[in-house]
Amino acid sequence: MSDSIWRSIDTAEKSDYGKMECMEMTDVAIVGGGLCGILCAWFLKDAGVDCILLDKDRIAEGTGKDAMAQVTSQHGLIYSKLLERDGEEKARMYFQANEQAIQKYRELSEQIDCDFEETSSYVYSKNDREKIEKEIDAVDRIGGKADFCETTELPFDISGAVRFPGQAKLNPVKLLNGLVKELEKHQNIHIYEGVEIDDWFRHVIWCGIHVTVADHIICTTHIPFYEKLGKYNRKLHMEESCILALGNAQKMNGMYTDEAQGGLSFRSYGDLLLMTGGMYKPESDREAHEWEKLREAAAMYYPEAKEKASWKVQDCFSLDGIPYIGSYASERKTPGLYVATGFNGWGMTSAMTAAMLLTEIILKDKFVEAKEAVNYSWKEVFSTERKILLPQYFSNIKDTISDRFSFRPQKYKK
Ligand SMILES: Cc1cc2nc3c(=O)[nH]c(=O)nc-3n(C[C@H](O)[C@H](O)[C@H](O)COP(=O)(O)OP(=O)(O)OC[C@H]3O[C@@H](n4cnc5c(N)ncnc54)[C@H](O)[C@@H]3O)c2cc1C
Repeated sequence: MSDSIWRSIDTAEKSDYGKMECMEMTDVAIVGGGLCGILCAWFLKDAGVDCILLDKDRIAEGTGKDAMAQVTSQHGLIYSKLLERDGEEKARMYFQANEQAIQKYRELSEQIDCDFEETSSYVYSKNDREKIEKEIDAVDRIGGKADFCETTELPFDISGAVRFPGQAKLNPVKLLNGLVKELEKHQNIHIYEGVEIDDWFRHVIWCGIHVTVADHIICTTHIPFYEKLGKYNRKLHMEESCILALGNAQKMNGMYTDEAQGGLSFRSYGDLLLMTGGMYKPESDREAHEWEKLREAAAMYYPEAKEKASWKVQDCFSLDGIPYIGSYASERKTPGLYVATGFNGWGMTSAMTAAMLLTEIILKDKFVEAKEAVNYSWKEVFSTERKILLPQYFSNIKDTISDRFSFRPQKYKK
């Protein structure tokens, strides 16, 4: 295994951030300097809000630097599922939130050079045309645009694919580095590294002797750091996937994802074709098997291709397929503490959605007249207080009881 292609082309010089004081006071503290945390700081930087962005390791070195970096509102066949399970309004809210996130990336790409490229996104099925047709109907019902395709750039036959026009792909390293370089210019943004937040109590977070007091605290640590409330250890699970970068393989304009869990996904970057597949619990016995399957598929579909890089990446999945964005547990139990997690392998748009929503809540509360504030009508769909009663929930409870800390060691094993 190697570094992701994004990491290996990252030659940017990294800044040294100053040491954190033992006691810091700020308006907003953002815990977790990955894509989501950085985007939160981005939206706060111009509002004159005093803001601390901190990470247990280095800033801008999180999961985003290993992802496929497809910016899309097409998250598998989610709209037919949402329509059936949660109704038309929720499905529409989810769609609108993600479309707004893409639009924000479009705007951002005018300021930050990140190889942003508009393209179509496809979810294909190898053997179930009906599922694809159902998704197209669902998207149509909620006011989106999707069409049916049988002919694609894929190296195998399919029963059909849903095409979303107006989606995008980018280079996450350029994006993250560009954002951080801009943030560094703002005196109200203070960045600290090597600070692993252990605990929270009423507007206070700490890491050993370092204590930060903030009116608002945003947790963007991928896996939420505070275990006593919110039940995230039961509501989330980690999954890992393998990615290959192939040279001398076909170039693809679109981005392709199998509707089947763990199926193959494809996108090109320059001369490389990125191909991902498999989905397994981190450290499970299935890892070697998934790598073998992915390499076999690469050899079968692209016999002339050469493997240039291979890496794996983890993401945090929610049980109902929707991220948690909002108050950590509830306004009453965790005042001033917010969370964004459970991005389900779609953290480019979800991180943006989260940053837009959480900073709006904070700005509205603290600085902006209510009438001036943006009101994201879709926020309810991401509510952290929504009820879920699914078999996975009970299975997670069992795991938690049998191994109180089974959830924690899965953090960031790369
Ligand atoms: C195979 C695969 C492919 C993917 N491809 C795509 C894609 O094409 N499109 C897409 O939209 N999404 C994709 N994703 C998902 C996406 O990459 C992630 O959802 C997203 O990067 C998560 O961003 P984040 O900011 O939440 O987390 P991260 O980027 O991981 O950042 C979290 C940060 O928090 C820090 N941290 C953790 N704990 C603490 C603590 N206690 N104190 C302080 N700091 C802490 C970490 O060091 C880290 O820097 C993919 C995921 C997988 C598995």
